[in-house]
Amino acid sequence: MKFYIETVGCQMNVLDSELAAAELISAGWERLDSRKGADLIVFNTCSVREHAEEKIYSALGRLKTWKIEKPTGLIAVMGCMAQKDKGVVFQRAPFVDVVVGPGKISELASLVAAAAKTGTQQLAIGIDRFEHRTDPKAVKESFRLYDPIRLPQTRPRVFQAMVRIMFGCDKFCSYCVVPSVRGPEQSRSPKEILDEIRTLADQGCVEVTLLGQTVNSYRYREGDKTTRLAALLAAIDAVPGIRRVRFVSSYPTDMTDELLQAVRDLPSATPYLHVPAQHGANSVLERMRRRYTVEEYRDLVDRIYATIPGAAITSDFIVGFCGETEDEFQQTVELVRYARFKNSFIFKYSVRPGNEASRIYEDDVPETVKKRRNNELLAVQNEISAEWNRTFLGREVEILVEGPSKREARNVAQEESLYAENEQTLDATNESETPSNLLPVGDLLASAAPSGTVQLTGRTECDRIVVFNGAPELVGTFQRVRIVETAPFTLFGEL
Ligand code: SF4
Repeated sequence: MKFYIETVGCQMNVLDSELAAAELISAGWERLDSRKGADLIVFNTCSVREHAEEKIYSALGRLKTWKIEKPTGLIAVMGCMAQKDKGVVFQRAPFVDVVVGPGKISELASLVAAAAKTGTQQLAIGIDRFEHRTDPKAVKESFRLYDPIRLPQTRPRVFQAMVRIMFGCDKFCSYCVVPSVRGPEQSRSPKEILDEIRTLADQGCVEVTLLGQTVNSYRYREGDKTTRLAALLAAIDAVPGIRRVRFVSSYPTDMTDELLQAVRDLPSATPYLHVPAQHGANSVLERMRRRYTVEEYRDLVDRIYATIPGAAITSDFIVGFCGETEDEFQQTVELVRYARFKNSFIFKYSVRPGNEASRIYEDDVPETVKKRRNNELLAVQNEISAEWNRTFLGREVEILVEGPSKREARNVAQEESLYAENEQTLDATNESETPSNLLPVGDLLASAAPSGTVQLTGRTECDRIVVFNGAPELVGTFQRVRIVETAPFTLFGEL
């Protein structure tokens, strides 16, 4: 029996798909890179914006024909939308067989088996927000459920891995559904994290990305001892074989001086910090229930640049949030100019039923205004990104070679996407060049020019993408590259 899994959304979802694939493979399933020939299609969904959800439902609609042609075929929907909509998924897409929330991935194989055997729809949704809060044993167990034994072959690239160190969120920003769909904030024990990273290093992993909704809020208590992220980074730094560690996403108020100093001093900690500001006006930050002022955020930016040489800061912004005036929007533009982010992910606000903003504020900024503000902010950011990149011209940088460039991947294989026949991103309006995850080195070797080179990409320690020509065998190695040309999102180099 063969399955195909399609993932949309954030890095948490990418990791969840990896774990779901491991769960199915352990139960005897074989993974396919396309839906052709699949007996099971798993759709890992996102619920961050309404637009994303509607597109997922229309993608599911397209699967109806597949189900008619292949009545024994099974469809499973997992991820945040599954958790949020629960049985509604069955109402809107009655041909779906399994709906499984993010906290129940370890049950996926048995739910699929039950659906196949009984012909009835199966539903398992994740933890209740408060269920685990009072029971430390349950918290510990819950991570076992989330991170069942992972398999090296389900990682997109064996030399890189994401490691979840936290789950859930307690911040309750008014526009966000994460606290209700991903549950309360829970930190995983340092011992378990280190054991997992040692295993990953033994398998050839050289770079880990620590994941958490507010990753720098990490706090694990055992007896009198509390471990925070700075101490965890120091312990990971001592793991032989791990050359780079980054962590995403950070919450501004939890970015302590101790953590910044750890990033500066630990050889493996990379100077890349994703700290979403979301807005540049205090009045809007207050409506968003972010727990800082723009002055505090600017102070954080100053502290980062003063502490960490070569720091690259990135941010998320929401434009057109309820009641946003032109003046408030211009304050966001000012913040972008002040902070000089490496890049920003800019989103137009959309109502999410169930969160606080949808209950108390009106989504009153017209779509045309949202669009215009989005483009204006993007133009300012792009200018800054281009300026940053120009400072790299002529410099030599060390990169970890990740795979073929997008252009190369397109030449070699036509990626198939259920979610977006024409659109690959969730409106990440400044998506940069990202390499294809799935292209095996063997395919790359076959596509190499007579000189034996292909177009590859790698990343600097500050997360800048470098495109260069090199031998396919370089994938997974560290290389030194001289930058000979730059664009707003990409550096072009020569070995
Ligand atoms: S910090 Fe705010 S935006 Fe981020 S996951 Fe938590 S509630 Fe959502």
